[in-house]
Amino acid sequence: MSNLIQRTTELAMHIVSDYVGPADIVIDATCGNGHDTLRLAEMGPAAVYAFDLQPEAIEATRDLLAKAGFTCVAEPNTAGPSIVLTCLGHEHMADFFREHAPGPSGDGAEGEDPEGFAAAIIFNLGYLPGGDKSRTTRAQTTLTAVRSSLCMLKKDGILCLTMYSGHPEGTEEKRALLAFAEGLDSKQWHVCYLSMPNQKKQPPEILLISRKK
Ligand code: SAH
Repeated sequence: MSNLIQRTTELAMHIVSDYVGPADIVIDATCGNGHDTLRLAEMGPAAVYAFDLQPEAIEATRDLLAKAGFTCVAEPNTAGPSIVLTCLGHEHMADFFREHAPGPSGDGAEGEDPEGFAAAIIFNLGYLPGGDKSRTTRAQTTLTAVRSSLCMLKKDGILCLTMYSGHPEGTEEKRALLAFAEGLDSKQWHVCYLSMPNQKKQPPEILLISRKK
């Protein structure tokens, strides 16, 4: 096994992998170039939903998954893992799942508010390396998406946010997320904050939230 605390993104995905089983539904809220979506697909869940604002990111993710032998589908089916890519801001995820009942069986009635269905929801925040820095995630929309993610999270499911505070929007986003997480009721939520304090500049940090009941 490689050294787990060498790279923040590796550590984040390693933690997430412990929460994902074959019947599970998982969500990548910022698919970017698709590396994390691919990692989620390789964990072998029933369905992976991936979102990004940028059509280029959706296409890059589709290409990466295709090279690895995964085909994306418009609607989940039972020949999983079903991978559904959607070009949409994650602040609208709740609307999306209201219209598209999550999971291969699609057993939730359309129009209902689906709750407690996701085993893992990941956000790799910031902007795409080498991409358009103006298309960065932002505190307000991220908070909206995190609030709806907490509703979607099943008991003992994990919400994993990788935060980048080395740019102004990222600093504000991290401040807002930590303030939000600190305010979560400890009777209902486990919260964990991981940092690599001896790194130069502002290294990425991980915020984990898990539903207790
Ligand atoms: N996980 C990716 C990297 C993500 S970078 C990888 O493995 O390559 C952050 C991504 O968030 C960018 O692709 C950006 O387009 C996207 N993004 C920014 N704001 C967003 C929003 N409101 N909703 C969904 N995606 C957003």
